[in-house]
Amino acid sequence: MITTRFAPSPTGPLHLGHAYAALFAERQARAAGGRFLLRIEDIDETRCRPEFTQAILDDLAWLGLVWDEPPRVQSAHFDAYRSVLDRLAARGLLYPCFCTRADIARASRGQTPDGAPLYPGTCRARSAEHRQALLAAGTPHAFRLDMAGALAACPGPLHYHEAGHGCVLCHPERFGDVVLGRKECPASYHLAVTHDDAIQGVTLVTRGEDLRAATDLHRLLQALMGWPAPQYAHHRLIRDASGVRLAKSAGAAGLRTLGLTPGEIRARLGF
Ligand code: GLU
Repeated sequence: MITTRFAPSPTGPLHLGHAYAALFAERQARAAGGRFLLRIEDIDETRCRPEFTQAILDDLAWLGLVWDEPPRVQSAHFDAYRSVLDRLAARGLLYPCFCTRADIARASRGQTPDGAPLYPGTCRARSAEHRQALLAAGTPHAFRLDMAGALAACPGPLHYHEAGHGCVLCHPERFGDVVLGRKECPASYHLAVTHDDAIQGVTLVTRGEDLRAATDLHRLLQALMGWPAPQYAHHRLIRDASGVRLAKSAGAAGLRTLGLTPGEIRARLGF
């Protein structure tokens, strides 16, 4: 059975781009007699707010969406993410990184597909004693995946099935030693999303094409952790009249401020 999900971050009101993503995921599930789930991706406690979570639930219900299980709320599952970090650390695939943003920007030799500076690997080489001393002193740190070690642990090419296209070959090495967690927050987007897709039994991940490159890394995490490989459908992004992708950060209008009925919103988006 097909299971899809819509996974918004409660950092502001839903806009037309979110409505498209939610309706797309629901349609893929319903057309196949499958299940449609909702997940609130609120791991970034500096940007997410409970009132936006409630507004998202209200707006989705107003649009006429119905989800098949109570929503999964990521901030209630930090222990689960911490346990994944512990398992990776026990296999020698995770290390603490004490570099500041400025250190990394200075030493970086490129960019990851996320647009972040490619980590040069400075802290990978630290001795166990040095790490212990820095940890004992309470030095702020992140946890990074040892990409070379992770690739060695998952031999053979990684790929995924993209709906309507077929097999896509993955190149997770472009992410370098990616951050999977921080001392104060044991989950990055990449870790939480792959863990939760596995736990929720998501078989078809639908999301915007801006996240296509991240799928290469997600397939590596799934292979490392023995999680099932879902299929993927990366969909188009909704843009404003000048062609710019709708984004909360750019002040995209909230769904309910458009003066449109739910039916008109569906029609405008092609549903
Ligand atoms: N939470 C992510 C967002 O708001 C979506 C994650 C995903 O669908 O994989 O863009």
